[in-house]
Amino acid sequence: MSAPVTPQEHAVAVAELLAPLRARLIEPGAAETVPIARAAGHVLAADLTSPVAVPPFANSQMDGYAVRASDVASASAGAPVRLPIGAASAAGDPIGVHVVGTASPVMTGAPVPDGADAVIPIEQCDPAHFIGLGSAAHADDVPPGATVGFAAPVEPGTFVRGTGTDLAPGAIILPAGTRLTPAALGSIAAAGLAEVAVRPRAHVLLLSTGHELRAPGAPLGSGQIYDANSSSMSAALAETGVDVTTATSPDDAEALLTLIAAHPDADLVVTMGGVSAGAFEVVRDALEPAGVRFGHVAMQPGGPQGLGLARIGERELPVVAFPGNPVSVLVSFEMFLRPILCALSERPALRPAVQARLAHAITSPAGKHQVRRGALREDGSVEVGGPSSHLLHDYARATVLAHVPIGVDALPAGAEVEIWRIDE
Ligand code: AMP
Ligand code: MG
Repeated sequence: MSAPVTPQEHAVAVAELLAPLRARLIEPGAAETVPIARAAGHVLAADLTSPVAVPPFANSQMDGYAVRASDVASASAGAPVRLPIGAASAAGDPIGVHVVGTASPVMTGAPVPDGADAVIPIEQCDPAHFIGLGSAAHADDVPPGATVGFAAPVEPGTFVRGTGTDLAPGAIILPAGTRLTPAALGSIAAAGLAEVAVRPRAHVLLLSTGHELRAPGAPLGSGQIYDANSSSMSAALAETGVDVTTATSPDDAEALLTLIAAHPDADLVVTMGGVSAGAFEVVRDALEPAGVRFGHVAMQPGGPQGLGLARIGERELPVVAFPGNPVSVLVSFEMFLRPILCALSERPALRPAVQARLAHAITSPAGKHQVRRGALREDGSVEVGGPSSHLLHDYARATVLAHVPIGVDALPAGAEVEIWRIDE
């Protein structure tokens, strides 16, 4: 990577580096088991079948009276049918027995007692409230001799949630390849499954480098700055569906290699900083001898880049090395890693590219693909901020990335540029 390569060429090289990892993760049969509490967003590795019926028993959809429909077949407003009140059931009670010719109070979610085939909502009964039942419904609380009246017949099955009507036992809850949404996780939990087999995720070790870095919240000494990249990039990586572990290395090659060796589960190392032309380029110093190649991509920001398999002990570990400037890191991620990691996790990359007109003139280095951060104005034109790669706050307010291709050194106001929406 001595002569600058184009961003497109570098993106292809990153994709090639990660192709074996991708193949391993999406290989048929590749799976890991995770508790449902941690399964949101994961992708099912196999069809998931329900071991039980959901609901597991016929239960009431209403607070009301369970009856046998034939007992109220003749009911009308002019000639209501009155039935003695039987045993009551609340949610959580075992399935009761309905005595034919009576009306059994049932609460929403309570088992419909055996022998009843319909529920009449309390609002349609006379009286339109329960008699003698407190917060917990029990048969003993119903006064002896009490009756309830019904002024209309009811179809069998009315307001009864039948056994297995949501899920039959043995039914496929969701097929392999499904991304687990909140409703999917609820349905799996309703079937009683505590864990699920999901496609394995890539484990990414994210390394910030620099003597100058301090964690947010810590006191800042002279010459020190807060580590912005660990936060921005761990969030950016997590959005693609990979597992992220963050670590910070001082500008010391030995320390950096020791840190990587301490993470044997990592499938990919993403480093930030220490790759350009300074006197203390820790990532380059540590990883060039291990097999990672460093060079320049014709892109601004994000020119210095590194890439390759690093031999760390017995392992050969893919490394993608980004420069350290906070804007360069995020732009590099957008250009080179995000699309590939989204594909690894079977997520849509969602960066719709559209054309927009510049609200004002801009310049760009002719030999580089420039990525500017900007915002769409109400009239649809795009206003971009300064090109410097430390302007992270500008990026934080941006809604688009505007691309100025290699070969273009100036664009007038009104010129069309390709933009990527980053706010969707
Ligand atoms: P480097 O590539 O290590 O020379 O870093 C380039 C610039 O980015 C320097 O000004 C660093 O201080 C800054 N920088 C590097 N890493 C971080 C980080 N994690 N958070 C904020 N700024 C950083
Ligand atoms: Mg540095």
